[in-house]
Amino acid sequence: MTNKIYYTKPSITNLEIEYANDAAKNGWGNDCYKYIDLFEKKFSAHLNVKHAHATSSCTGALHLGFYSLGIKPGDEVILADTNWIASVSPIVHLGATPVFVDIDPKTWCLDPDLVEKAITNKTKAILAVHLYGNLADMSEILKISSKYNIPVIEDAAEAIGSEFHGKKAGSMGEFGTFSFHGTKTITTGEGGMFVTNNDQTFERILQLNNHGRSPSQIKQFWPEEIGFKYKISNIQAAIGCAQMERIDELINKKREIYNIYKELISEMQGVTINYEQENCKIGAWINNIVLDPSLNVSREALIKNFQKYQIDARVFFWPLSSLDMFLSRESNIHSWDIPSRAINLPSYHDLTIDDQVRVINVIKETILAS
Ligand SMILES: *Cc1c(COP(=O)(O)O)cnc(C)c1O
Repeated sequence: MTNKIYYTKPSITNLEIEYANDAAKNGWGNDCYKYIDLFEKKFSAHLNVKHAHATSSCTGALHLGFYSLGIKPGDEVILADTNWIASVSPIVHLGATPVFVDIDPKTWCLDPDLVEKAITNKTKAILAVHLYGNLADMSEILKISSKYNIPVIEDAAEAIGSEFHGKKAGSMGEFGTFSFHGTKTITTGEGGMFVTNNDQTFERILQLNNHGRSPSQIKQFWPEEIGFKYKISNIQAAIGCAQMERIDELINKKREIYNIYKELISEMQGVTINYEQENCKIGAWINNIVLDPSLNVSREALIKNFQKYQIDARVFFWPLSSLDMFLSRESNIHSWDIPSRAINLPSYHDLTIDDQVRVINVIKETILAS
């Protein structure tokens, strides 16, 4: 056992290289947006949404989107405590207050009951993040949204390939965002996507992301307002086009890896993996296992053993409220408890069954030794 097993790796073929080469060679002048337009078309068709606008990152797409909702100092945005920092930083940059609620211990996403309890007259948005490709309970969250008339945003950065009762993650809220960072299921190196079914929201985003210049303004270099510039390049979009042509293959591969891990842990007591609700399909961006407290295995013991066998595994997201920038909310018990006995498993497309067996054997050994 010598080869190192990486945590994530993108799947790049000759198609991506060919398109990137073409963009670098010919994608200028009249063709400078060719791959961007195509990438957006392919993406909106895949997701079955009206509009898609490619961005430089998911963080940028979220910043644009929250700004377009008029989020400002004094406003509150509800999100799960368990999250990557990128979901909350745009809220903080706009001067609003993030309100962290606990997760559902099965889905690791927003607990809808706690969302409803956290609503105040300052609540301006609910951010549903589909963590690790798992699905937040969108039917309950959307019910709360219409009951209180508060928009729901979906951060689907980790959830391409995830479907909730036939609807694709990212397509159900006021708007959705995606990431094409090198670690994600599809990649453009760095990149993101803003999607919405709302014509006005889309028009607003196009103006905001072009330094406040209106698409209908005929005067040159004339911004209507202070905007943003979170654009993708044609060369990155060319790689994105190739990835979209392979989207089914890439998602299926991720799901295959998930199903193999699920099979491998099925005979182990007290070990759970990403949860798939009935009538849902998870994109399985990153597989995580959570060990029952009775097994008495710590994250530290797992990490140490993975390192010993040259396997790159990573920690489950820390609760955001445990970071120094925020007030601590230890009452979010699941968010604070689960990471201490959980770990991310290598989950990239080209992982072999032998690699997966090797990963699971390390977990078995760690459990036996504790
Ligand atoms: C990766 C990720 C982001 C950030 O994406 P970038 O493209 O790196 O800005 C945002 N939210 C979630 C849930 C992510 O996993």
